Amino acid sequence: MANHPFTYQPLPVRVVFGPGRRQQLAAEAQRLGLKRVLVLSTPGQANTAEHLAALLGGLAAGTFSGATMHTPTDVTEQALRVVHDLNADGVVAIGGGSATGLSKAIARRTGLPQIILPTTYAGSEMTPVLGETSGGRKTVIRDQAVLPKTVIYDVELTLTLPPAVSASSGMNALAHAAEALYAHNGNPLVSVLAEEAIRALGQSLPRIRHSPQDLEARSQALSGAWLAGSVLGSVDMALHHKLAHVLGGTFILPHAELHAALLPHTLAYNAQAAPEAMNRIARALGRPDEGGPDPTGRNAPQLVAELNRRLGIESALKNLGLPEAGLDEATTLALQNPYANPTPLEREALRELLQRAWSGQAPR
Ligand code: NAD
Repeated sequence: MANHPFTYQPLPVRVVFGPGRRQQLAAEAQRLGLKRVLVLSTPGQANTAEHLAALLGGLAAGTFSGATMHTPTDVTEQALRVVHDLNADGVVAIGGGSATGLSKAIARRTGLPQIILPTTYAGSEMTPVLGETSGGRKTVIRDQAVLPKTVIYDVELTLTLPPAVSASSGMNALAHAAEALYAHNGNPLVSVLAEEAIRALGQSLPRIRHSPQDLEARSQALSGAWLAGSVLGSVDMALHHKLAHVLGGTFILPHAELHAALLPHTLAYNAQAAPEAMNRIARALGRPDEGGPDPTGRNAPQLVAELNRRLGIESALKNLGLPEAGLDEATTLALQNPYANPTPLEREALRELLQRAWSGQAPR
């Protein structure tokens, strides 16, 4: 990788990290010159949104708790009316990718500055990417205008994330880091960050599965998610993210669980063509005291499948709601709009990958 020419532009996002750092919210809003802030969340986190509004005190203009998965444009329209009625001069989003998506959609249309407090491991807060749905179609744009000004990672806000959701959300983050390792526009810094993200997530997620209140493990997972989000925001993703996007959007499958179940298979598809990436994944997930690839000889896809098993994650796409009759259509969709991938995309091999993932077989 170091022998390849590259161009790298770090993202201009201020990061405030640590337990209890939400107490800094009003100071961070003031730093941006904000006076009338709208706080955004999903319905399930409405109480936390109220808590943040209380922390903002006189700087809070109100809350909007209608954010939902895949950023539907009609919800964005509703929220924009609230922004307008309250004369808001900035937005704060509390939650996972859904609340963040709404915040980015508002920023794109109004130019308002954003502060994000992530409570899952999805990583959207670190990317200039916005996916929106309208009339059942999902479109994805890349635009620096959707980047937040400030991200506050307060690990205490993640303690309520249910163990099963934490596990799949963490594997969603791990997928960003894994694909960053073989991105066509990768670079040595991104590879170091990505490997460290995988190590942090691989060590912390099993601990969180059994002790969701373990603050140290939660901190490690959140820092892994930050690193994973920043590499997701810095380089182009490949087959794995393309398949997850196609399957999730066409068959409305749960986002994080889908990423987790697909990852061993997409890595296996790219294993031979991306040996350095596979070595880094195996080193990060193998026994930490060995400092090298997994001593039991398991390869990267097997180690990821094993981590899924330890986390109790569903491995068969059929159990996530994907109909077997949809596999041909999914293969065709995955081959549309070509994109860079280490192993060339080939219909028969992709169809086989999907069949294995559908039935929950081991990665090839
Ligand atoms: P999510 O934001 O929908 O959160 C899942 C559920 O968990 C929600 O009901 C939420 O209220 C709840 N929740 C979140 N944090 C909680 C907490 N700490 N305690 C209790 N409940 C909590 O799901 P997600 O997986 O974070 O995000 C998925 C969405 O993000 C998808 O729409 C996906 O496309 C998008 N995404 C975008 C990017 C990007 O770069 N644009 C990256 C990753 C994900």
